[in-house]
Amino acid sequence: MSFSLRVRVLGCGTSTGVPIIGCSCRVCQSADSKNHRLRSSILIEISNPSLQLVVDTTPEFRVQMLRERVTHLDGVLMTHTHADHCHGFDDLRAFYFWNHRAIPVWMAHAHVQDFQKRFPYLFQKTGYLGTVALISLHTLSQGAFQIEGVPIEHTELPHGSTVSTAYRIGSFAYATDFQFFPDAVIEAWKGKIHTMVASGLRFQPHPTHSSIPETIELFRRLGVKRGILTHLTHDVEYVRDSIGLPAGVELAYDGMTIDL
Ligand SMILES: [Zn+2]
Ligand SMILES: [Zn+2]
Ligand SMILES: [Zn+2]
Repeated sequence: MSFSLRVRVLGCGTSTGVPIIGCSCRVCQSADSKNHRLRSSILIEISNPSLQLVVDTTPEFRVQMLRERVTHLDGVLMTHTHADHCHGFDDLRAFYFWNHRAIPVWMAHAHVQDFQKRFPYLFQKTGYLGTVALISLHTLSQGAFQIEGVPIEHTELPHGSTVSTAYRIGSFAYATDFQFFPDAVIEAWKGKIHTMVASGLRFQPHPTHSSIPETIELFRRLGVKRGILTHLTHDVEYVRDSIGLPAGVELAYDGMTIDL
């Protein structure tokens, strides 16, 4: 199957977003729009077959959908249930107004219980007469799954007390909020990824996130040709910190378009 991909960075900020409320640092006060980061998410547009997928529904999901003029979604891929990755989920209901069909949502088994605790009303008959987001929940199982014949690989990565699911579609991969890639995953994905958007957070190490130097090393081990760093904190200044990156590595910015 040959399909082409276009990826839009909906947001590349860490859990607080950048600027952080109340912060007066140079990055948070910057006038450069590349230092303004909504919470991390991407839109994946596939042609032939034509499919539009989103990874995660951030607290700014509505703003991100309006900014990119998204009028329908064929599926939602969830990485994990931390607030910055799923608390905009309710706004999926707008798509139901127009399309009147349940939106398929994929998530790892490890996340289902916490997700249902965060959004109980989506799964109960409450008697409320308004429209809640109507979804069909798919639990990821071993091996790739398909959407309209497009194979989607996935793997679960350690992230503190939880896991984060990374996705690979053809030669594109997206991974956020992981501590590291286990060796077995590196073996399995090595040489298969041309372009990868992966979280780098900041230059300093962090107990539950891969840092920029660690993610750059990951790109090298996976043989990634174009590595794009996302989920960035206010420690990262777009222009200043882009300069020191090795060839083939870039910082993401909101609205960035990546063609494959
Ligand atoms: Zn996060
Ligand atoms: Zn700041
Ligand atoms: Zn997280």
